[in-house]
Amino acid sequence: MLRKTLAVTLAAAVCLGNAQAADDTIRTHAITDSLFVLFGNGGNIAVLTGKDGTYLVDDQYAPMTPHIRKALKALSDAPVRFVFNTHWHTDHTGGNANFARTGSLLVAHDNVRTRLSSDQFISAFQREVPAADSSAWPVLTFDQRISFHLNNETVHSLHVARAHTDGDSLVHFEKANALHMGDTFFNGIYPFIDLSSGGSIDGVLAALQTALTLSDARTVIIPGHGPITDRAGLKRYQQMLQSLRDQVAAQLDQGQSIEQVVASRPTRAYDDELSGGFITPQAFARTLAESLSHSRADQSE
Ligand SMILES: [Zn+2]
Repeated sequence: MLRKTLAVTLAAAVCLGNAQAADDTIRTHAITDSLFVLFGNGGNIAVLTGKDGTYLVDDQYAPMTPHIRKALKALSDAPVRFVFNTHWHTDHTGGNANFARTGSLLVAHDNVRTRLSSDQFISAFQREVPAADSSAWPVLTFDQRISFHLNNETVHSLHVARAHTDGDSLVHFEKANALHMGDTFFNGIYPFIDLSSGGSIDGVLAALQTALTLSDARTVIIPGHGPITDRAGLKRYQQMLQSLRDQVAAQLDQGQSIEQVVASRPTRAYDDELSGGFITPQAFARTLAESLSHSRADQSE
């Protein structure tokens, strides 16, 4: 329960854009003796350490950088050589400029650079996000996949199209058998799908299917927000999203409007379990209906 409360607090801070809302404590969890997860204020961070230098997946908000550095210092004296961003949202990229300033190479999908380098508007929250300073932009970008070979590990980053945004990557630590999901997975709360950044429910479901294909019963699954879990936890999440998606699609097929879908409370079977976050059941139902309506409009063009 404590974990769930923490996840909810962090997630609420995420989308209100309030970097100071939660406390700044970093909690470190060891997956192996060289792979760790840092839980703090913002998206979950993966850390690969070793003699070749430290590799980070995501870097939370800018004010968290000193706290992250302190937590990293306890794991390794090596410099942070790479920072990989799973997507552009500021709770995952806010520390980019700080790490770039001290020599880290920023790496992400092409669309992460595109969105960080231009003004954005997140329609779900009616929130404008100005372009980041150029020092925060990824300097190495890719369109499908990129692999890193360091610290006796192989790390594959795989782009998943139009999922939480249009620039998401899954990050697979092959030897450690761990998978960072970025925000294609919110564990324990209704997910945010950023339609205005090119996200879609069908893309999220495809990303989850890819993750299931990459994983086995022993894989450690690191969600973008919430506690780590295993393949069974990921599978439950996929089944929940698939059943809600299919139900909303059926209602739209019957001719219901988006407002009628939302009013029918299609998520209610899951509300006790998942409504403790910043995405309300109504907001999630609306996202599903809007996402499926968009894809219908695209098909009929
Ligand atoms: Zn996000």
